[in-house]
Amino acid sequence: MFSFQVSTRERCELVDITRPVQDIVKRAGISEGVCHVFVPHTTAAITINENADPSVCADILSALGRLIPRNAAYTHPEGNSDAHVKAAVIGSSRTAFIRGGRLALGQWQGLFFCEFDGPREREVWVEVR
Ligand code: ZN
Repeated sequence: MFSFQVSTRERCELVDITRPVQDIVKRAGISEGVCHVFVPHTTAAITINENADPSVCADILSALGRLIPRNAAYTHPEGNSDAHVKAAVIGSSRTAFIRGGRLALGQWQGLFFCEFDGPREREVWVEVR
């Protein structure tokens, strides 16, 4: 298994991790297969979405903020329940195909680390098969 660090700067932020994941796929030397990307955190997630126009990321974060407000009738005493719920909704992993030794993503797609309770030092685990 491969891993790398992500240093987030905001409480909620989408960080494009396409390049470090692509680098791992190259290093693994697998031409056809699958790449699993996983976050070992309960207030962070992984998604695939548009990485051409950054306003898409801003819209995703603002929509999640409206759907899952920071202050609501939560019972978890840490004060970060919205982050746990956002992480549960988005999910802790994604899988992409490998074709020709590279991640096979759509033209406008990128892989994103989703921070919901930053800033923090985070970890991403990657397995290539
Ligand atoms: Zn918590």
